Amino acid sequence: MSSEIIGSKLSVRSKSDLIDKVFDAITTSGEDGVFQTELCKLFSLDSRDGSRLVGNLEKQSLITREKALYRGRWTYKLVVKKSFSMEAEERKPIDVSMVEGAPCLCCSFQHLCSNEDESNQYSPAKCQIIEEWILSSFDKFMINQQSGDQELL
Ligand code: SF4
Repeated sequence: MSSEIIGSKLSVRSKSDLIDKVFDAITTSGEDGVFQTELCKLFSLDSRDGSRLVGNLEKQSLITREKALYRGRWTYKLVVKKSFSMEAEERKPIDVSMVEGAPCLCCSFQHLCSNEDESNQYSPAKCQIIEEWILSSFDKFMINQQSGDQELL
């Protein structure tokens, strides 16, 4: 287990806060994982509570739990599931520029609009407003592209 985790001062306020912190600790340990025994010690959990808590994370498919020998005793090695560790690493800021000015954001029919019911009068598939917005956004995009190309010449 990394010294970063062991050395951290922990302040836990609620059960969900505790679950979040335990999950963070497992995530921080990366592919090497962390032994359940160490984790329980770190968070001052008895083995029953610790087992219940990590079992909960396992049920949610957030971590894997494999039986492992640690200092001569059987415990579990806890490793964050790859998709979640990659997600955390690859989290990028959201680019909202593509939806800037989208008419749906302030449309008074938004609550009635759906594309699930074909007979619905309000649907993105039939909407003149959104069609015009897409076409004008496309025109602006093309103009920006062309002026960018000309700057390069
Ligand atoms: S698709 Fe048209 S009707 Fe539906 S929310 Fe957007 S602007 Fe309004």
